[in-house]
Amino acid sequence: MQRYKHVAVIGIDGMGGFNRLAPTPCMDKIFENGAYTFNALSMDPTISAENWGGMLIGCDPAVHRLTNGYISSHPYTNNELPSLFKRIREKNPEAYLASAVNWNPINIGIAEDGIGVDKRTADNDTLVTEEVLDCIKNKPVFLFVQLDEVDGAGHHFGYGTQGHLDRITEIDALVGKMYDAYVKAGIIDDTLFICIADHGGYGHGHGGWTDTEKYIFLGVSGRGVKKGHIDYAVTKDISAIVLYALGIDIPLYSSSGYSSQVPGGIFEDYDREYMKPEIKVPAPHRETEAFDAPGGLGEIFGDRIKLCMFFDSSSADETKNFIAEETGNVKFYSNGVRGETAEFGATGAYRINGIDFSRSFSLSFWLLADADLDGRICVLGNKSPENGKHQEKGFNILLRNHSVMVQLGCGDDDTDTVTAFGADGFSGWVNVIVSFDYEDSEVRTVIDFDTVHTDTVDSKYLESISEGGDFVIGDDLYLSFNKSRNLIFRMDDLIMFEGVLSRTDIEKLKKYYE
Ligand SMILES: [Zn+2]
Repeated sequence: MQRYKHVAVIGIDGMGGFNRLAPTPCMDKIFENGAYTFNALSMDPTISAENWGGMLIGCDPAVHRLTNGYISSHPYTNNELPSLFKRIREKNPEAYLASAVNWNPINIGIAEDGIGVDKRTADNDTLVTEEVLDCIKNKPVFLFVQLDEVDGAGHHFGYGTQGHLDRITEIDALVGKMYDAYVKAGIIDDTLFICIADHGGYGHGHGGWTDTEKYIFLGVSGRGVKKGHIDYAVTKDISAIVLYALGIDIPLYSSSGYSSQVPGGIFEDYDREYMKPEIKVPAPHRETEAFDAPGGLGEIFGDRIKLCMFFDSSSADETKNFIAEETGNVKFYSNGVRGETAEFGATGAYRINGIDFSRSFSLSFWLLADADLDGRICVLGNKSPENGKHQEKGFNILLRNHSVMVQLGCGDDDTDTVTAFGADGFSGWVNVIVSFDYEDSEVRTVIDFDTVHTDTVDSKYLESISEGGDFVIGDDLYLSFNKSRNLIFRMDDLIMFEGVLSRTDIEKLKKYYE
């Protein structure tokens, strides 16, 4: 039985349940006779791709395996677990389906191509809303919207701060316009109108499992929706809610497959029992030891450390030697190796001027990218690995699925050293140490404080490093390599040491991170 002719899911990225603290006159009115909760749950990790993917596909992140980096550059093609768009399309070949987003990776890596979804993307939420109003004129059977600026404000000002709450109030007005457009189109009586956040935040980041990160708002309004409180609900339940509303069979629950369910408290006539999943509470993450505190890196290595960035909601260099200039938007997440971590690549990078590379030095950093990573990510360096530019003077460190590559240019040619990960390839957080030894003309790469790979290189390459450009973290020198390929990755704790790290130094560093 088709209960509604139209369903709209309006997603507000990074709102969590913070709208309870902000004036939201439009949403208040839309849901005053509907069902809602400020305590629906995001899924672990409390990150966008994992949760928008969960909503549209109807399963856990461990099942769909989508991440911010992955969906930025890989079209969604999983036929075993199709998105809502595809499930609706299969039942209704003529339906007008639309997805209007600010964060374009959703339209690349979650909504399938080739099934007639009207995909719209715009750079700010006001322009997205213009697109949405245009879509509503076509009386969509299913409309999905993602607004991104509330999350941007959370990363920038801090979640729950006035800057974040003010943006929620601004976005509330846009949601009101969308609702009014359904009224104007004469279809509101036949529309199930849903608002949901993908996650909240804590400090300047999210990704962890604190209350303000995991609890989110879910509001459902429509003819016949029970007025009052929604029971236990998880982001992934959006899929089942939409299918039920449109009268499409909900696939059977499977903890290793489709596991979206209709929460209690929304529909009068829904009586299937809700199976509460067991949630494994992620281990709390360790905070970063202060640089100068006992046991901190400053105490362990003294002034051998020339640059030290913890990426704890900040671009600060703990040694205070350098200032990083941000381009784009480097976002912080709360589930780092220590404290928070920064997301780099297509969306943001840092540039540091004035680092002296004229003597032997070492770099240590932690990387997190996708197991399915194909191609190469430019992690950092002071030149570009781009074709036609890679022989320029300087160095780059590149991450590939099965290896770390150090590329050195001397002006007219270049050389590479490649260090393989174990047989399993890249998986989870990996520590990388690279020492550039000018005395012995060697590049030494250490993976997870263990696998060591040493390559002898012509001294002309090492001597050219100091003639490269600014030190860029998160992309190439021209801030274009990752950007042009939509590549995203996360890094934690970037440390530059004077000289080559000895085995004893590496053991000390390993102990620090244990
Ligand atoms: Zn998000």
